[in-house]
Amino acid sequence: MSIAENVARVREAMARAAIAAGREPGEILLAAATKMNDAGRVREAIAAGVDICGENRVQEMLEKQAQGAYEGAPLHFIGHLQKNKVRQVVGLVSLIHGADSLPLLEAVSREAQKRGIVQDVLLEVNIGRESSKSGFAPESVGDALEAASALEGIFVRGLMAIPPICSVPAGNRPFFLAMKQLFVDNGRKKYDNVSMDFLSMGMSGDFTEAIACGANLVRVGTAIFGPRNYNP
Ligand SMILES: *Cc1c(COP(=O)(O)O)cnc(C)c1O
Repeated sequence: MSIAENVARVREAMARAAIAAGREPGEILLAAATKMNDAGRVREAIAAGVDICGENRVQEMLEKQAQGAYEGAPLHFIGHLQKNKVRQVVGLVSLIHGADSLPLLEAVSREAQKRGIVQDVLLEVNIGRESSKSGFAPESVGDALEAASALEGIFVRGLMAIPPICSVPAGNRPFFLAMKQLFVDNGRKKYDNVSMDFLSMGMSGDFTEAIACGANLVRVGTAIFGPRNYNP
């Protein structure tokens, strides 16, 4: 299967899931999770019509960006962002998905102010309460939004989550539904510099389930590019 064929299949599955949930297929964005795929393969995915490229590792992103890999698509940072890498990412990407702590939000805020820009971010929620994962606890999202609201140079555009690894796609349904609830509840409150536009959840194994539960931005790697080779 070519990348273009895979993108077409993912789009069809997304559309079916949207329609089944009574939603407009056009309201759901497809981010290609491009980690470990070279510039040529990233360009193929963009040509095939993915909406966004999402990268995980700062160094890899900078190298591929220098090669012009992302021309024609917005670039998002979807990985875990270390505070000492903030300088390299702020202003380069249109959205940082994994804003997972107040110190990180403060670091992004400082860097954005230095550059005279406003950086869009999503708050990452540790929806499965896993000790191995970072992110805000579900019950602290309101406080996090309030704190973020007071920071100059950042604008919160929604929430993101990576639920626990699960052997069946439907197993993550409770986590996706809990995220949707947080998205709706916190979207009703009015904070400055916050607009609940994006609910980023769902990967290759469970993006249709995530869409059924309300995701409007899915991050798909393997189903577009095939398995990643971690030991080349
Ligand atoms: C790699 C990655 C994805 C995509 O994972 P697949 O299972 O390959 O679709 C999505 N989100 C994040 C944060 C990732 O790191």
